[in-house]
Amino acid sequence: MKNNRPAWDEYFLKLAMLASERATCPRMHCGCVFVRDKFVLATGYNGSLPGLPHCEDVGCLIVDNHCVRTNHAEINALTQAAIHGISVKGATAYITNMSCTSCAKALIAAGIKRVVVFSDFHDTLATQFYTDSGIEISKLDMPGKIINYEIEKYTSAKKTEKSN
Ligand SMILES: [Zn+2]
Ligand SMILES: [Zn+2]
Repeated sequence: MKNNRPAWDEYFLKLAMLASERATCPRMHCGCVFVRDKFVLATGYNGSLPGLPHCEDVGCLIVDNHCVRTNHAEINALTQAAIHGISVKGATAYITNMSCTSCAKALIAAGIKRVVVFSDFHDTLATQFYTDSGIEISKLDMPGKIINYEIEKYTSAKKTEKSN
């Protein structure tokens, strides 16, 4: 029987992709998941401040060719951890896109020790800051864009005589 179980790194990077589905800026969808000892500590995606309008609804807010309406996925994951009083010290950050410089600096200062990202990212100042700070960058092939669920294995979702 074929084993389709994803390895841990692939699993958490897929979770980051899943988080990115909630992103609200059409210019870019990002997701970030912090993990320590195989436990998810916090997740984030790029989105507007709580209660404020989304780029998707009112358009982007462009400054110097960047949309500044949203907090980036890494920052939103950090703030989620902060709200819940969770330390991310020593954790791994799984991110769907290589961080911008500001997010890299924030993750480094928060004690992130490893970053896992898709293999085809472009080297940026973030890469340099991570490397200079002794943070391991692992590059992974992009997991399949489609998550296939084997519906027959969800017994409760199966149509039975009764539910028909
Ligand atoms: Zn936007
Ligand atoms: Zn960023």
